Amino acid sequence: MNARQRRALFTRLREANPRPTTELEYASPFQLLIAVILSAQATDKGVNKATPALFRAAPTPAAMLALGEDGLKQYIKTIGLFNTKARNILETCRLLVEKHGGEVPRDRAALEALPGVGRKTANVILNTAFGEPTIAVDTHIFRLANRTGLAPGKNVLEVEKALLRAVPPEFRQDAHHWLILHGRYVCTARRPHCAECIIADLCEYPHKEMGAPAAVGRAARRA
Ligand code: SF4
Repeated sequence: MNARQRRALFTRLREANPRPTTELEYASPFQLLIAVILSAQATDKGVNKATPALFRAAPTPAAMLALGEDGLKQYIKTIGLFNTKARNILETCRLLVEKHGGEVPRDRAALEALPGVGRKTANVILNTAFGEPTIAVDTHIFRLANRTGLAPGKNVLEVEKALLRAVPPEFRQDAHHWLILHGRYVCTARRPHCAECIIADLCEYPHKEMGAPAAVGRAARRA
């Protein structure tokens, strides 16, 4: 995909959704951090069902620490891997209180030193909580970047670096959300919705499922 096509791709995604954002519900960088940790191998919808009560009971790292492991689990037991996530969250809260004054650090290395926080989560926090032009590559973005030819790569780090080179600067801040939403709802893993895809003519995927045009479909049924 050349530079003109990449610009056209993001222009269309922006026109369709001028202010994209995460589907996770949160009211502070800390709450976003906890929601993102909880969302690993779980759906945003499932996380959003659990977090309102949790954040009401424990809106800060100190308050969450005070819940203790059993107390925290009561709020998140509907979410997959909740035992491990509870331990990681409490250790993260302890480090936030002891090393960062109860605040989420705006620093990649400090974020990645928190349990349950890898490069992808750090990118989400830096982007969505702090407005930095990072691009977190999850399974949806990895698939989309490779299928379309936008930023091919063998692993998530390769794709992240390729995206940072490929995405024009004016689109970099929101690229993560445009791509994740397009991958989640349009360019789905098993049956991508190519016939309704607004970037289909730019996409280089050789197995697009465009479906038969209506007239051809009717002619085929009559034959
Ligand atoms: S045309 Fe199909 S494969 Fe290409 S981005 Fe759109 S949905 Fe995905």
